[in-house]
Amino acid sequence: MTGRATGRIVVVTGGARGIGRAIVDRFAAEGATVVIGDLTDPGELFLQSDVAAGLAVAGHREWVPLDVTDEISILAFSESVAAAHGGVDVLVNNAGIMDTRALADETVAGWDLTMAVNLRGPFLMAKHLVPLMEGRADPAIVNIGSIEGLGANTFHSSYAASKAGVHGLTRALAVELGPAGIRCNAVAPGWIDTELNRGYVDKHPNREQAVADLASLHPVGRIGDPTDVAATVSWLANPDAGFVTGQVVTVDGGRMTRLPIPASLADDA
Ligand code: NDP
Repeated sequence: MTGRATGRIVVVTGGARGIGRAIVDRFAAEGATVVIGDLTDPGELFLQSDVAAGLAVAGHREWVPLDVTDEISILAFSESVAAAHGGVDVLVNNAGIMDTRALADETVAGWDLTMAVNLRGPFLMAKHLVPLMEGRADPAIVNIGSIEGLGANTFHSSYAASKAGVHGLTRALAVELGPAGIRCNAVAPGWIDTELNRGYVDKHPNREQAVADLASLHPVGRIGDPTDVAATVSWLANPDAGFVTGQVVTVDGGRMTRLPIPASLADDA
């Protein structure tokens, strides 16, 4: 693994924490130069946790401020990356937010913010960074979608719609950019342990039971770790996946694959 991304310039939005952070660390361990586009500077956090984890970082990581809801910010980010590195090999559209509201309580502002981060962000990042990817060796875009682009949880109308949109955008970009040699795929993670969803578990009176119940939904017997997603993103961005484009790869421990069956019949299944 080490060295397989040496010389590659990788941009990861929302790379300061959670899944994005694991993607950043994965590419850095593979030798890439990784530009983290995020609202927050992760600097000190990175140093502290690297020391704690004994992480070997072969590549280089840097932060450039970015708000994916703001086209001016995206343009400034793109100019900064172009000036510092001259191009981009991999764009990972990871930044995302989750809006949990009943339809009756959803607002235009809430709906628009979810769309601005989760769907318009990837569109604008592609629009302004693709010119930096043209002519590079095997450039690739990887969008982080969700199993909620395939199914839906209650009270997630804006989130599920935005992630289904990400999957559609992925296919459209694959078709449009294929002739320019740029591949575009999406990863649809299942339940991954990050701050995005930890609140659901933490507020449960019996946290251990909640974790066990969640794990039992997965044929592999556990919920996901950010590194599970990072490994798939790394593969999709690598020339090993050179004939793979326009795909949505589900990384969910088999949760979407297991057909539901009533508890009363489960022993006979
Ligand atoms: P986190 O909330 O842990 O991290 C999200 C990151 O995105 C943060 O660093 C956040 O910055 C950043 N961010 C938010 N808004 C913006 C913005 N406008 N511009 C730039 N950066 C921004 O989320 P996860 O790591 O869990 O999720 C990452 C992606 O994976 C998301 O797209 C999410 O929808 C998707 N996903 C997650 C799943 C899960 O179970 N965790 C399952 C399926 C999909 P800051 O901290 O400054 O707000």
